[in-house]
Amino acid sequence: MPDSAKGAPAGPLRLTLDRRALADNWRWLAGQSGTAQAGAAVKANGYGLGAAEALKTLADAGCRVFFVATWAEAVELAPLAAGLELHVLHGVRDEDMMVAGGLDARPVLNSADQVRRWREQGGNRLCSVMVDTGMNRLGVSVAELASGLLQGLNCDLLLSHLACADEDVAMNRVQLDRFAGLGAYAPGCRMSLANSAGISLGRDYHFDLTRPGLSLYGGIARPEAQGHIRPVARIDAQILQRRTLLAGESLGYNATFTTAQPMELAILNLGYADGYWRGFSGRGRALAGDVALPVMGRVSMDLTAICVDAMPALREGDWVQIDFELSHAAQLSGMSQYELLTGLGGRFERRWA
Ligand SMILES: *Cc1c(COP(=O)(O)O)cnc(C)c1O
Repeated sequence: MPDSAKGAPAGPLRLTLDRRALADNWRWLAGQSGTAQAGAAVKANGYGLGAAEALKTLADAGCRVFFVATWAEAVELAPLAAGLELHVLHGVRDEDMMVAGGLDARPVLNSADQVRRWREQGGNRLCSVMVDTGMNRLGVSVAELASGLLQGLNCDLLLSHLACADEDVAMNRVQLDRFAGLGAYAPGCRMSLANSAGISLGRDYHFDLTRPGLSLYGGIARPEAQGHIRPVARIDAQILQRRTLLAGESLGYNATFTTAQPMELAILNLGYADGYWRGFSGRGRALAGDVALPVMGRVSMDLTAICVDAMPALREGDWVQIDFELSHAAQLSGMSQYELLTGLGGRFERRWA
């Protein structure tokens, strides 16, 4: 909670985070990684759930290797990561060198310039290197690697990233074969290729270290994870007002919904500013126990209306759960599971249980 909000009453919007599910998800992914070690991506504030608590929980479960995207994220987590490996996926820009020099974290170098920068200005401390095997996002090229880019560099982890691990396509094997051939250019380096989905592609993809993110936080990256990965985040929202619509009345912005018959509505303290996206308009649902309460009309910035015909007893001040089962919610909203998690906003009271 920001300092300025101290003294304010507890928020009308809650994100309950299940520590045991997070730890169990990591354990399952570590088990599926076979003889490879399993790390954890905690970038983007632990996929929106809270990086510090995620890191502590995963470290308690036995995870030793963590990945963030930026040095700002590394600065926040480094005090919690003593004795653990913290890797910064975006490498080092000139602007990062001051911070990087004083922090117990290592860059994942992504370009020949970054390699040079680290060698010359970074004291050639321990680092990792990303190589591009076909995604064409970040990473040095195979040709650069083959021409001796890493010679004399204090690199102990060589990474590449799969573009299509959540699909069964030929490109996975192409990237695997390219990557497997690179060990010779990075003698003594551990190797790492698989994200959450990549882990389920099988043993060939595991190398020395896997890097799950999404599935730690309850995302189902591939069908193989169904029934093993448990949800971590639960959303509850408070009813701000209850009202009755007469037949023929319309609701919300642009009056996209008009009642055919009278309807009981509850207005929830939740909207797209919280990451409950407009794609849930007329499609999402809340839950009171196991009674489904459909979202009616458009989701607004801070408010969402649900039909409570099935729950006459619900009152102003009562709480309902929001159905946020990630693969289903992704289908309903047209957003990816990644977007749904990382979009969860700052107004939630995050409670680790
Ligand atoms: C985010 C990220 C991961 C984790 O990917 P998931 O699909 O969330 O499991 C792994 N490696 C790299 C390089 C990443 O950027």
